[in-house]
Amino acid sequence: MFKPLHGECQCGQVKYELTAPEFVAYTCHCRACQKLSSSAFSICMQVPAEALNITQGNAASRVRVADSGNDLTSWFCTVCGSALFAQNSARPRIRTLYAGTLDNPDMVPVSAHIWIKRKLPWVVLPQQHRTFDGAGDWSEEYANDMSRYKPED
Ligand SMILES: [Zn+2]
Ligand SMILES: [Zn+2]
Repeated sequence: MFKPLHGECQCGQVKYELTAPEFVAYTCHCRACQKLSSSAFSICMQVPAEALNITQGNAASRVRVADSGNDLTSWFCTVCGSALFAQNSARPRIRTLYAGTLDNPDMVPVSAHIWIKRKLPWVVLPQQHRTFDGAGDWSEEYANDMSRYKPED
């Protein structure tokens, strides 16, 4: 039984709940995430879209075209601007939660790191974790849980 996880933006105006476990948790070192987080990388969780719901407050969205050519919609707090989650037009049933906004980000089971060709040189990754030079490939994680993820729907 999954115990729901909760998070909120920096100012607390927007609160959300995640009611199902993630497919995968990773850090992204792409330039867009460095800009988004004003830091070295973002902490991301791929989660079922229907399991991630705003429970309080207002989030606004904006769309940008990702390097893949897909539209990437991201949601952020209308008051403090914190980025909360994003959705890729190619994967409508999945959302990318920016897991640094969770109440307990230390619970996030990061096991992989993507876009490490953009990684800042002083960031040292655990040796046992998977790494990808560019975008991650989560087909294994999705295949392990096809009941929650059917990409061709
Ligand atoms: Zn806020
Ligand atoms: Zn990124």
